Amino acid sequence: ALQEVNEKLERLSQIDALTGLANRRSFDQQLALEYARHVRGAGALSVLMVDIDFFKRINDRYGHAQGDVYLQSLAAVLKAEMSRPNDLAARYGGEEFVCILPDTDLAGAMQVAEQIREAVIAMHLDNAQTPPKPLTVSIGVASLQGDHSSAEDLLRQADVQLYRAKNAGRNRVCGILLSEHVTKATDVLNQKILH
Ligand code: GH3
Ligand code: MG
Ligand code: MG
Repeated sequence: ALQEVNEKLERLSQIDALTGLANRRSFDQQLALEYARHVRGAGALSVLMVDIDFFKRINDRYGHAQGDVYLQSLAAVLKAEMSRPNDLAARYGGEEFVCILPDTDLAGAMQVAEQIREAVIAMHLDNAQTPPKPLTVSIGVASLQGDHSSAEDLLRQADVQLYRAKNAGRNRVCGILLSEHVTKATDVLNQKILH
């Protein structure tokens, strides 16, 4: 019975209570493991950083409890888009989410990010704007391919790309490849017209 309780506590210490996703601690552990695999010769390692656009306004207009429901909805989208056994979506803090995509190159990671961006729009959650528009997210992508960057660098670069996406007008995906041969930034601009 004690072992069962301990196992349950161990599981709970890995989980974000609001969304049921992995928490930051669990994310950090998993990123370290996948980074080590990458260094040992596994394929490209990609991370996504996902941030809700204008989330403060949603809290202000509809209240914090409704904001929490939005966070849970986004968590469900992220979970659904993690299609491989070792993909991981986590709540990094507040309204910021991160995903680890092992053995996934920049093109593959950009594709996953774009699917997430479109799935969020498809939920048609009101983003508290006049006239009404659907909730959107911005996503930064960083992909490591045989580079000497650290796991921390990879995450930092995803964050830089997230800020590029925000500054370019939000509701879009920006990405970068960290490789010993080339460092290439690429964008997928939002082509959907919002109503
Ligand atoms: P941007 O498009 O630049 O990302 O704008 P934003 O308003 O989303 O960004 P900002 O970082 O200014 O605001 C984030 C907001 O997220 C502020 C905070 O109240 C809200 N927030 C953080 N954690 C939670 C939470 O657990 N629940 C709810 N409901 N809101 C949260
Ligand atoms: Mg934020
Ligand atoms: Mg935000």
